[in-house]
Order: sequence, then C-alpha cells, then structure tokens
Amino acid sequence: MNDTMTLGITPATRVCVLTGAGISAESGIATFRDANGLWEQHRVEDVASPDGFARDPALVWRFYAQRRAQARGAVPNPAHRALAALEARLGDNFFLCTQNVDNLHEQAGSTRLVHMHGELFLTRCSDPDCATPPVADTRSAFPTLPRCACGALQRPHIVWFGEVPLEVQPIKRKVQACDVFLCVGSSGNVYPAAGLVRELHYRRSMGEVVRSVYVGLERPANAAHFDDVLLGKAGELLPGLIALT
Ligand code: NAD
Ligand code: ZN
Repeated sequence: MNDTMTLGITPATRVCVLTGAGISAESGIATFRDANGLWEQHRVEDVASPDGFARDPALVWRFYAQRRAQARGAVPNPAHRALAALEARLGDNFFLCTQNVDNLHEQAGSTRLVHMHGELFLTRCSDPDCATPPVADTRSAFPTLPRCACGALQRPHIVWFGEVPLEVQPIKRKVQACDVFLCVGSSGNVYPAAGLVRELHYRRSMGEVVRSVYVGLERPANAAHFDDVLLGKAGELLPGLIALT
C-alpha cells in the first residue's frame, strides 16, 4: 500500500472510523505517549482513575483543568476536516467513534459521532445513582471543588482507567455493519477500542467483503489485525485516502 492510494469509497460504502489521540496531535493536543504517560511526576493512570479521584479530587480537577486549557484554543486539522467532509457525502453510511475527549471532530462539522471515552468539556455528578445529566463546562479554574445540586462532588465526564467506555454495544453494531473500517492515530493498547478491528476478521471469515485500514505515525500494537497499515501523519494522508471515487 502506498500513500497515493484511495480506499475506493463510493456514496454507498458504509464507513466506520475509530480515531485516537494521534489525529489531534497536529492540532497541538499532546498524546499520552508524548509525555511518557506522566503528568507532573504522577502516572496518568493515577490521576485519570476513580481511585485517584477518591484520593485527591483537587489534583484530578487540576489535571483536567490543564487539559481543558490546552484544548480550548485548538482547531481541527485537515484530518478532522476530511472526515467531516466524508460524512457530508455519505450521510448515515458514515459513523465515527472517537477515543478523544477534545471537541475537534465537532468543530470540524462531524455530527454522527460517539465519544467512547467521554468529553473534556462536560462535567457530571460523581454519584452514579444521581439523575442529574452532564452539563457543558468550559471552566479551567476551580477555587472550590465543584458540586452537583445533590451535594456530591462533580467529576470530569471522562471515562477513566478501570471504567467502562460509553456506547460500546451501539459502536460494535456499527462496526459489524460497515464495509470499510478505518482507524486513525490510536496506539492499539486501550481496549475495547483496540479490539473493534477484530470484528472485521470474523466477518471476512464468514465470507463478507470488508476492509480494515490503519493510518498513523507508527505501527499500532494491534497492527496484525489490519489489512493495511499506512504510516504517516493523519493530516497528510487522510484527505487523499478517503477521497470519494
Ligand atoms: P495514544 O496516545 O496511545 O496513541 C496515539 C497514536 O497516535 C500513536 O500510535 C502515535 O504514533 C500516533 N500519532 C501521533 N501523531 C500522529 C499524527 N500526526 N498522525 C497520525 N498518528 C499520530 O492514544 P490512543 O490510542 O487514543 O489511546 C490513549 C487514550 O488517551 C485514549 O483513551 C484517549 O481517550 C486518551 N487521550 C485523548 C486525547 C484527546 O482527546 N486528544 C489526548 C491524549 C489521550
Ligand atoms: Zn448529583
């Protein structure tokens, strides 16, 4: 596979896209790997976890306040825009699932998308039994810890390590019904997202004609499961790759 190829997508092709931190790298949002998984000497797993929040909610809010401040000025790059343009052409034949918590896909115009790991600019109640829905929240400074009307602490909307991603079953159903599965900028280490590509193997073994392609800077941990692995920057490769034929 070379970088001048296209995926041969027509308006009738059902396309499922999974994006990871790599698609936002060219917009200036750091991937976990950029910082060796560390934030101010803390392992990210220790800050982005239910245990971390129980231990030190102020520290966790400070971490996400910084993430919000970093993401606030970011703008979509050609990869986000190419996916939004593809959606505009394919309509309901397009589905986007992102592991990213930033809002760059929305900024680019994507609407048929699910944030399986939550959203940076939403805040929710930390009590799982509370009925109060998540609220839009762009704050990046907290003089006091924010609280829900029910009295419990509010927490970032983010799905933390050890928690179950959002909408997993609807996402699987979309992957089970697509013709082309495209994964962009995800190191393939975080499950269940990294396992979605295996649905395509199963379907091929059942005689279906399907295709799976990875686009990113380096081979992901689950590279063996893709039909093609295309190495390079998402913003440079994606626009040509997903041009309609
Ligand atoms: P990851 O950090 O584990 O992997 C990122 C991948 O992107 C790497 O394989 C890297 O080689 C590749 N990459 C870097 N620059 C790229 C570019 N310009 N074009 C294409 N690929 C590029 O990210 P992940 O697999 O998404 O998983 C880590 C977790 O971190 C996820 O759960 C996600 O929710 C969270 N996260 C989100 C953001 C965000 O919202 N932007 C940022 C950091 C981490
Ligand atoms: Zn509440």
